[in-house]
Parts: sequence; C-alpha cells; structure tokens
Amino acid sequence: MSARPESPGAAGARPPLVLRGIRKTFGPLVALDDVSLEIPRGRTTVLLGPSGSGKSTLLRSINLLERPDAGTLDFGDGAVTLGGRLTGRTVRAVRGRSTMVFQQFNLFPHLTALGNVTLAPVSTRGLPRAEAEELGRTLLAKVGLAAKADAYPDRLSGGQQQRVAIARALAMEPDVLLFDEPTSALDPELAAEVVEVLADLAQEDRTLVVVTHSLAFARRVADKVVFLEDGQVLLDGGPADFFESSDERLRRFREVVA
Ligand code: ADP
Ligand code: MG
Repeated sequence: MSARPESPGAAGARPPLVLRGIRKTFGPLVALDDVSLEIPRGRTTVLLGPSGSGKSTLLRSINLLERPDAGTLDFGDGAVTLGGRLTGRTVRAVRGRSTMVFQQFNLFPHLTALGNVTLAPVSTRGLPRAEAEELGRTLLAKVGLAAKADAYPDRLSGGQQQRVAIARALAMEPDVLLFDEPTSALDPELAAEVVEVLADLAQEDRTLVVVTHSLAFARRVADKVVFLEDGQVLLDGGPADFFESSDERLRRFREVVA
C-alpha cells in the first residue's frame, strides 16, 4: 500500500477540492447522478468503475471539458456553481486549476517534445521563452526524456509520447492533475514506463486524480479510491476499503478486472 506518513504542512493543511451534487445528463442518460466527493490535496485519488460508469465525465467535469447540469466545484477558495451560464472568466479560472492527461496523448504533431511542453507556459502563463525552455527541459528530464527534447512525436514511442504529455501537463503547474486511463492505449512494456513516472509523481506533494483499469496500479498509488457505478459513488474510502470490501459488486469488479 502506498500510505505515506503525514508530512506537516502538506496535505491536510490545504483544503480539499470539493465536488457537490454534480449532475450531468446526455439526453435521457444520467451520466453523473448527484456526485459529491472530496479530493484531498497532495494525495492520489484513483477513480475506478465499470466502463460507462461516468469516470471520464467526472474527470472532464472538473476541467469543464464537460459542463455539468448542476453541482458545485470548490478548489478551496469558494464554490463555483455549475449548471447556469458561466462567464468566460469563471470558465478560464476553473480550467486553470487542473490539467488533463488523455489516453491518446494528444501531442501537437508539428511541434517537438520541447515545443509541446513549452507551448502553453508561453502562451497561457506568459512565461518568457527562455524560462519556459529551461522548465521544459527540466520536466522532460523528470519523465526520462532529456535526450528527446528535439524529437517530433512521430519519432517517439507511445510511452514516450505519453511521458511528453505528462511533462506538458506538469509545465502548467496546475493545482490538480487529471489522468484519464493514461496507460490503456499502450502495450504493457510501454505502459510500465508511464506507470513508473506516475508512481514517482504520486510520491510528491501533488494532487492527482487517476482513472485506471489497472488494479495493480491503483493498489500501488492510491491514497483514496472512489468507485463509480451508473453515475453514482458506490464507494469513497481508502484503498483497503475497496480492496477488502465484501460488497458483491466490488468483489465482482475486482475479479473481472484483475
Ligand atoms: P467511463 O469513462 O466510466 O467509461 P463515461 O464518463 O465516458 O464513462 O460515460 C458515462 C456515460 O455517459 C456512458 O453511458 C456514455 O455512453 C455516456 N456519454 C459520455 N459522453 C457522452 C456524450 N458526449 N454524448 C452522449 N453520451 C455520452
Ligand atoms: Mg472513460
């Protein structure tokens, strides 16, 4: 289990990200049905659940890639009410709090690894180019790709592309990092190198939310497990609450997925 000693001033001291009553429908389909949960700071929250249970929709709602019909999001400085019309300013403010890493990497093909990592810091955060490049090189080194700074995505393996995408997300220095099945498009050996990078990030004082189908990975990195089913939170607890639960639905999921 990845439980770490409480470091003073790390988590705990900072308010969690709080979601209340998040509802999202697609026509008649209720994808998220009144979801409320807290995402602790400096910790790794793993989102589990069957396919179609609403995991991606929940992650995307935190980033407003999906606009919930109702609910509130609070990053610790006041709740934002979703559902009604949001001003562009509110949307930008909420979006600026989190960064998403997608299953399919979504790198810009016409930019080098370094170009991908520095683009947003320069254009969105207004960082001077030289500073952004220094940050970019540091982050590429962090994900084990110092030597690939000038490579274009089509010259990188899937695992390397995903590590560039992780460096790019880190370059935004977001409050919260969101990962939607970051290894599921990769062959096992390439997935393993991405898992190592994620496990390192999970050891740092970062707020991560990770959707995964890998129970081994969940067991390794999760400080908290949230299990969704049919758009509802079926379990919200520590890893042991999930891995040792005798709830029939959770047991079945563990057997099928493992
Ligand atoms: P998960 O990530 O857990 O597999 P999703 O959040 O992708 O689940 O989807 C939850 C439900 O919402 C599913 O039934 C899915 O088909 C539906 N859904 C997701 N996105 C859309 C969309 N853009 N339009 C219509 N239905 C959607
Ligand atoms: Mg999904």
